[in-house]
Amino acid sequence: MKNEHEIVKILHEEEKLGQFQSKIQNTYKKLKIPNISLDKKSNPKSYMLLNTKIVTTEDIESGNIEKLRLIKGEVKAVTLLTDKTYIIKHKGENGITRVEEEIKKMGLPFEYNAIKSPSTFYPLSIRVASLLATKKVFGWDDNQMKEMGRMAPKNSVFTKLLLRYLISLKKMAKEIPRHWKRHYTIGLMDPGELHEDDKHLIIRLRDFNTHPIMCTYLSGYFIGTVELLSDFINLTIEEVKCMHKGDDYHKFIIRWE
Ligand SMILES: [Zn+2]
Repeated sequence: MKNEHEIVKILHEEEKLGQFQSKIQNTYKKLKIPNISLDKKSNPKSYMLLNTKIVTTEDIESGNIEKLRLIKGEVKAVTLLTDKTYIIKHKGENGITRVEEEIKKMGLPFEYNAIKSPSTFYPLSIRVASLLATKKVFGWDDNQMKEMGRMAPKNSVFTKLLLRYLISLKKMAKEIPRHWKRHYTIGLMDPGELHEDDKHLIIRLRDFNTHPIMCTYLSGYFIGTVELLSDFINLTIEEVKCMHKGDDYHKFIIRWE
């Protein structure tokens, strides 16, 4: 008899093979995992705009709030749980309360503890709000937000497991599009363009017009992922194209020594 942890691992394997969410749900049912573990899709409407309070520019830098409301797509709750872990580690439980209060000010009622399963889908606007609120409440600059992203793959059991399975940077580069799809319902990642001789990796993200905070955070996330798979030192990342600066897609170049 397999325990639930092993089954969840198997389900993750299935997901890796690109099978559809519905099929995964059937597998959960077949294996008689209690309802609470079901990979239910949330109803995004239930989270959005319940509180229509208008946020002033003092609450958050001008323009962000309106943009937040326009963000489409969904993201797996595991990303929000990763934010929670990082905040608790650096600012304690009280930090979570402060960030949640800030998110509520943005008109998006959300509590980290209400997340039932890491594989539930949440509106992407909540994820953006989570990052913006974290930045605001703790007064973190872009480098500190990048650091938050860098630590994310290191704190995720699933990502670490996946990376152990992928072994090489070459395999990881190929896997990037699927790894993205596993977490986000919008945006398309090209396979990573690895130039081993020239010591750099090019990452392109398309159709992802959300908020610049995501570019900052993802810059760190990409570095953290490469670090987990290599012994490269002095990694740097530069976003050379960005949809928020009028380019057709986001293009990141990671370099190492
Ligand atoms: Zn960008």
